[in-house]
Amino acid sequence: MNILFATSEIAPWVKTGGLGDVAAALPPALRRAGMDVRVLVPFYPALAAAFPDAPIVAELPATAGAFPGAALRSATAPDGTPLLLLDCMACYTRSGNPYLGSDGRDWHDNAVRFGLLSYVAALLASTASPLAWQTDVLHCHDWQTALAPVYLRYVLKARAKSVLTIHNLAFQGLFGAHSLRELGLPPQAWSMEGVEYYGHLSFLKGGLQHADHITTVSPTYAREIQTDTDGMGLAGLLRYRSHVLTGILNGIDTEQWDPSTDPHLPVHYKASSLARKDDLKSTLQQTLGLAVTNDRPLFGVVSRLSGQKGLDLLLACADELIALPAQLVVLGSGDAALENAFRELALRHPGQVAVKIGFDEGLAHLIEAGIDAFIMPSRFEPCGLNQMYSLRYGTPPIVRATGGLADTVIDADDKSLGNGFVFSRAEPAELLATLRRAADLWSRSRLWRQLQKNGMAADHSWDQPAQTYVNLYRAL
Ligand code: ADP
Repeated sequence: MNILFATSEIAPWVKTGGLGDVAAALPPALRRAGMDVRVLVPFYPALAAAFPDAPIVAELPATAGAFPGAALRSATAPDGTPLLLLDCMACYTRSGNPYLGSDGRDWHDNAVRFGLLSYVAALLASTASPLAWQTDVLHCHDWQTALAPVYLRYVLKARAKSVLTIHNLAFQGLFGAHSLRELGLPPQAWSMEGVEYYGHLSFLKGGLQHADHITTVSPTYAREIQTDTDGMGLAGLLRYRSHVLTGILNGIDTEQWDPSTDPHLPVHYKASSLARKDDLKSTLQQTLGLAVTNDRPLFGVVSRLSGQKGLDLLLACADELIALPAQLVVLGSGDAALENAFRELALRHPGQVAVKIGFDEGLAHLIEAGIDAFIMPSRFEPCGLNQMYSLRYGTPPIVRATGGLADTVIDADDKSLGNGFVFSRAEPAELLATLRRAADLWSRSRLWRQLQKNGMAADHSWDQPAQTYVNLYRAL
């Protein structure tokens, strides 16, 4: 089958979160499962630099609404995945983040930028496709490509079935009513069955109405988003479409995240040589200016710093955590207030707390390997990747029971049958009690080893999820 994978991010070139990782890892896994997958992604500067000679395979004249003219280029990713690069200078030739300007605010023309991406995805899935290669299933991701099923409903004649995957329901692509015209959508799309959402135009809502199938990235999140508390204003629609909504847990890239070969690590280890992890702990302590000692557990965080991630809970109990005693390392960026609060925490605890503000892939790998336990107290978490990286790195995760965290982490008990630590209420006292429980178990090294091995034994590769997607494509 021919699968068109439409995405606004793809690692390693353009990534702001989990979607970038999924777009890089799922297509090759689907190809291994026999699908002919092509990835449609904007020709951002990072991709233009990686593929400067990518030939044009189709010209796309200026069309519906305010879309400027564009072109499709083709390239092949190093892993062999064919890429279709949507070249439109006016839309995508900008530095930095794909969604935000340097002032931290959304680009003013995001409706057109991602409307164009959605439109071209729909075009390639329609009877009017300019390519000889014909799409059987169009797989869209998040609001940035969610308008494609809407174009297939109102503007183009669909040739392919469509799947829309929700990676994070918090981002919905809301724009003013005037966008309807600039997106080239007809007046009848402005309705309850279309893109209208409380007087605004919603990309995601339109996609959820018209996609042939909806998936999200864990079974628990699929249930949570149908409840009024976690449905972010779309629970009613998701309940209405629950017969075509499934949760498929993400995998992780087990080649990039493999402690026995990871090029970011000076020392390698596996389940049978976990003692070597201690060397990585001291390397990490040295690198970050922490006291080099193994007399206390070293906890770690790698995360976007946003309200979703529940790190305010950690800030609220961090002084008590350090007093256990324990050490803490935090790598992240995002919300300025959280960045500052973590910087202050580090200043209060020299040698015991290290905070790095920024995005650093190599350091993220060293942290996963060098810390004893990973903290992820998310308020909501569609799937989460870091807890799976942690499991694979013999670093038990400490998580709140939500979304994909609830589907992957099993609470440890005295017999050490679990693979991490789970708490339920988003309160600092509950987090602290769980951190205490983890520190206690860490000092009982035989039990701790078992916990580490339990986590390392699980298969979180993309093979199984890819097969589940293949079954879905076939059913459609
Ligand atoms: P989300 O997509 O909500 O940000 P996920 O856990 O699904 O959360 O994915 C986050 C991805 O981004 C992981 O690969 C994680 O390692 C990475 N990441 C987040 N913040 C940083 C950072 N400051 N430096 C390096 N990697 C980061």
